[in-house]
Amino acid sequence: MIAAQPAGRHTESPSTWQRQLAEAVSDPVELLAQLGLTPQMLDPPQEAHQLHEAARQFPLRVPRSYVARMRPGDPRDPLLLQVLAARQELITAPGYGADPLEENAARKAPGLLHKYAGRALLVTTGACAVHCRYCFRRHHDYAAEQSGENQPRWMAAIAALQADPGIEEIILSGGDPLSLSNPRLEALLLQLAALPQIRRIRIHTRTPIALPARVDAGLLRALANVPCDLILVVHANHAQELDAGTAEALQALRRHCRLLLNQSVLLAGVNDDVTTLAALSQRLFECGVLPYYLHQLDHVAGAAHFEVPDSRALQLIAGVNASLPGYLVPKLVREVPGAPAKLPVELVPALPQVNQGS
Ligand SMILES: *Cc1c(COP(=O)(O)O)cnc(C)c1O
Ligand code: SF4
Repeated sequence: MIAAQPAGRHTESPSTWQRQLAEAVSDPVELLAQLGLTPQMLDPPQEAHQLHEAARQFPLRVPRSYVARMRPGDPRDPLLLQVLAARQELITAPGYGADPLEENAARKAPGLLHKYAGRALLVTTGACAVHCRYCFRRHHDYAAEQSGENQPRWMAAIAALQADPGIEEIILSGGDPLSLSNPRLEALLLQLAALPQIRRIRIHTRTPIALPARVDAGLLRALANVPCDLILVVHANHAQELDAGTAEALQALRRHCRLLLNQSVLLAGVNDDVTTLAALSQRLFECGVLPYYLHQLDHVAGAAHFEVPDSRALQLIAGVNASLPGYLVPKLVREVPGAPAKLPVELVPALPQVNQGS
């Protein structure tokens, strides 16, 4: 991931964010210890070996600057619950699978997903700055996907895009595109922007939230060099994630993007009340970001304990709608395999053939 640059006789040293990433917490018991907690103090109480087993199935990864935003001594901290490997993940819940969105069916080229009209999604890299326990890609074999070099895979995707003039927006997702070094990201953005039919490039990333140090001068320069409209969609779930350092990173990004949006996932125990959701919208606005989507959880195995029922989700969004201006109310959606778009939750039951349990 280290930029290949002619560095004279010196080998290039990793940048601040790369060092922070290398130093991320990976042991669940150490994470708890940093907050003055033990596995037995969790709700429900756990054993260290259960946490370690969950972290073996999907590795724990939390940057220390993210840990610093957690409340010490609070086993229900909403940031902690998003990232802590837990024994609930080991439970097999009916209807929760490894590929809940049936993405394997939408693949046009390796890592290129074309599900919706006019836009396609490129899985840029498998890496993320933080591992979210509810992630719908938690069972992806990223190692296998990454065994090949990114570069030839991207070239195949670009060739597929060239053959499809109907795609006018390309979405970089992952993993997390900001896991790439600045030179690699810039090269990819420039290649995409050079395709004649591409009008917008969208970057979906949680990194500015998880690791604000990633938003460095080199990244801002790279974004400034892209000759087409950029849209950045970040992923924050709770106002407490948006501390002063994160706000600064977002304001800097805002200067280089046409739009800065946020998507959240509705998560039991983390943000499933009206006050918390409204506070998130208010705080996003202060950071120059508008709420876009509030996603209902994808039914990925190991995440069932985060589920909020649709009936409750609809009540919550009605409560947010009643307390904020319209532009601060995200769209509550669920992703339904085969549907032409992410669907507003109130429309999901009306659709034929929709199997809500899958
Ligand atoms: C979510 C998603 C998009 C983007 O959908 P929007 O409604 O435009 O935000 C595009 N392609 C795929 C495969 C997606 O999963
Ligand atoms: S940052 Fe996004 S892709 Fe990465 S683990 Fe979290 S939810 Fe999944």
